[in-house]
Amino acid sequence: MRPIRTFNVTPALPQRLEALRTLAYNLHWDWDVEMVDLFRRLDGDLWESSRYNPVLMLGTISQARLNEIAEDEGFLAQMDRAAQRLEDYLSDRAWYKKHRKAPVSGECYAYFSMEFGLTTCMPVYSGGLGVLAGDHLKSASDLGLPLVAVGLLYQEGYFAQYLNADGWQQERYPINDFYNMPLHLERDANGQELRIEVEYPGRVVYARVWRVQVGTVPLYLLDTNIEPNNQYDQDICDRLYGGDIDMRIHQEVMLGIGGIRMLKALGLTPTAYHMNEGHSAFMALERMRVLIEEQSLTFAEALQVAQASQMFTTHTPVPAGIDLFPPEKVLHYLGRYRERFGLGDAEFLALGRTDTGDFSAPFSMAVLAIKTATFINGVSKLHAEVSRDMFGELWTGLPLGEVPIYAITNGVHARSCVARSTQALYDRYLGPNWAEASPGASLWERVYAIPDDELWRNHEQCRSHLVVTVRDRLAKSTRDRGGSTRELTEAQECLDPFVLTIGFARRFATYKRATLFLHDLERIRNIINGNGGDRRVQFVIAGKAHPKDIPGKELIRSIIHFTRDQGLSKSIVFVPNYDIHLSRDMVAGCDVWLNNPRRPREASGTSGMKAAMNGLPNLSVLDGWWDEADYIRTGWPIGHGEDYDDPNYQDDVEANALYDILEKEVVPLFYDRDKDEIPRGWVAKMKEAIYFNTPQFNTARMVKDYANLGYFAASDRASTLASASYSPGKELATWQARMADHWYDVRFEEVAISDTTNLQVNQPFKVTAAIQLGALTPDDVQVELYQGTVSVDGEIHSGVAVPMAHQGPDANGRSIYALEMEYTASGLQGLSLRILPRHRYLNSPYDPKLVLWADPDSVRIVSGVVTPTAALV
Ligand SMILES: *Cc1c(COP(=O)(O)O)cnc(C)c1O
Repeated sequence: MRPIRTFNVTPALPQRLEALRTLAYNLHWDWDVEMVDLFRRLDGDLWESSRYNPVLMLGTISQARLNEIAEDEGFLAQMDRAAQRLEDYLSDRAWYKKHRKAPVSGECYAYFSMEFGLTTCMPVYSGGLGVLAGDHLKSASDLGLPLVAVGLLYQEGYFAQYLNADGWQQERYPINDFYNMPLHLERDANGQELRIEVEYPGRVVYARVWRVQVGTVPLYLLDTNIEPNNQYDQDICDRLYGGDIDMRIHQEVMLGIGGIRMLKALGLTPTAYHMNEGHSAFMALERMRVLIEEQSLTFAEALQVAQASQMFTTHTPVPAGIDLFPPEKVLHYLGRYRERFGLGDAEFLALGRTDTGDFSAPFSMAVLAIKTATFINGVSKLHAEVSRDMFGELWTGLPLGEVPIYAITNGVHARSCVARSTQALYDRYLGPNWAEASPGASLWERVYAIPDDELWRNHEQCRSHLVVTVRDRLAKSTRDRGGSTRELTEAQECLDPFVLTIGFARRFATYKRATLFLHDLERIRNIINGNGGDRRVQFVIAGKAHPKDIPGKELIRSIIHFTRDQGLSKSIVFVPNYDIHLSRDMVAGCDVWLNNPRRPREASGTSGMKAAMNGLPNLSVLDGWWDEADYIRTGWPIGHGEDYDDPNYQDDVEANALYDILEKEVVPLFYDRDKDEIPRGWVAKMKEAIYFNTPQFNTARMVKDYANLGYFAASDRASTLASASYSPGKELATWQARMADHWYDVRFEEVAISDTTNLQVNQPFKVTAAIQLGALTPDDVQVELYQGTVSVDGEIHSGVAVPMAHQGPDANGRSIYALEMEYTASGLQGLSLRILPRHRYLNSPYDPKLVLWADPDSVRIVSGVVTPTAALV
């Protein structure tokens, strides 16, 4: 039955309890333990059954209970304190004010992501990418950054996982009830639903806008599930990563193009745009269209202006992880942008191609993002290196080490992932500022002053809590699938709260090798059973496989089968439906966090960081973040960062390394107790993990990096290019076109070296060069001497570039450049010369993607010096 009228009915709260509504609708409660306590106190059972959703709770709680607490002085006092805390929090965000010296007018950063993992009751994320985006917003709020976020609101969100009796993953798609979630529907000045329109071939699709308030940061989510959209268009916001390639393009058009339109409809004009992964890269097309139509810029000018404010973070180290669309589909869905830009098909598609001459190449969203961004980064040092390798071709002629893809290593939001009791412990010993404090801050020294027994008892309580939670979850899922009484009893008796517990939770993609620990069944059974003694080991495992990933699902099933066949269901537990809530219990209650991906396929990984903040040592392959952590003091490395060609051999070597470390290091250290039953050596390692990893692998540090390296500079530069009616932007575009036209006329004619024989370490010599610049001038270029050790392949690999000084013209109209240098190391050293473009409005000399190297086969090398006819004054 279709209703003839619908109402949005909001909870009726007694006047005295109005503060609860304010608290419920600001997600700040998610990372404030006192607020969570307040909601739990309101109704503990309802808090659990609503999946930690205070809005749903307020909507369903009985009027009797509300009347009761409205009279409860203790509750009211706690509520008033919480309301005051929120107010204080919102007004006291000082980092930005202190560190941003001269913000541009109306400074605002827009952060785009396909998914956001903020809290358990908002399942619009699938995994690490979403949780990272959620943590980014929380830290941006903590730091007081003027950031707004843009995403899609999925009707079904990501699936809930359960297993059938055979251990095969099943998916359920619970419907998100937006009216009972912490969401505000945005309205226009007349009180009507705010709507935006996006053109798709032959029709217009409408979307409305919901806001999630994350502390001070608003997250705006588009929702197409409305009339008069047809069914297909309503489904654009149906499922995260659901549907075929056409649906994916529809979604990305809505995110990128719809997102820009939404910001405008909300009256926002961001000064920087951050693409978290390439899904939102179509934003560049819409922004250029607006600049062309509303500011009368040319395509080339619009590209310069749009690019100056865009940033791109890449998250995948494998080409298969990147969205690639067939060219004809891109032309079909986005052809009207090609027309507005006045480009031919190939020119337009070149925006998303590495090899612009390959007319059959697919359109890459990552390439589009790179070509329209001023700052690009990977999510760990190792991942940035892999990304430079993957995308280096886009900067033809640039040594890989110089490809401008930087590293900003991921982090996690401390107050969201450290257990409540552990937060209280840190608050007590380190003071309340630990969650955002920088590495090196003096408070970190006090970690070592936390009494061993206090840290250890607290951790043991976290482990006990995990065991109880896992038993409950397992019992519930056994009941839900109609398991036998025996299975139910088994679920209720699984795990032992006193046994060394290894945690493994992540997406079940095959490269993560969830079953590596089962490589040698005999050996792992012995380890689990304590090799005949009482030093036993148990595993808690969780994670979802993508619904279409059959090999991933097989991994889950093989763990279930192994466990049953070996009678190990007490010691190896697979907990269904991994989500933010379960993650928080696991990273607090396990003893060791295990990670064994095939290096270098884990771009960063973040669950190990959450574990470290709770004092867990990591046991991991040197991949992603762990490769740059202090992996000796804060855990154990599996292997030494080798890359393997033969996966079977690799599994063999790394599984054996894992068993060795477990037997020789982890188990003995854990069970070596003193007379007070405290494992002193283990606790020392826990403290190292907290000391080194909490400040470093923290989104507070990460977001500060994004601000200092990206948001501030992009805002400044974009504001410069747009000033004076865009004249700097126009100047830059005109200059760049001139560079492209004349670049290939530039020639090195002669290089003179003052003393080519008998060079010794620290012996000065002079290099001069005569360069024919053709139509360009010395102001347009930067000439550099590039020198370094020559390796066996005859190339300089990690060279150093030093600018040469312009001396003036010679009689033949050539420009003369000079540099005096010396070698500081002996051995086979080499040098070369190169020219890069230079302009005052350019972000970096690499941006125009033009480099000219002296060609060893044709440049004339003489001894002595070449001199200008007139010196420069
Ligand atoms: C942290 C987290 C992840 C990401 O963990 P990785 O180690 O990066 O795989 C995925 N899902 C949930 C629910 C998380 O909390």
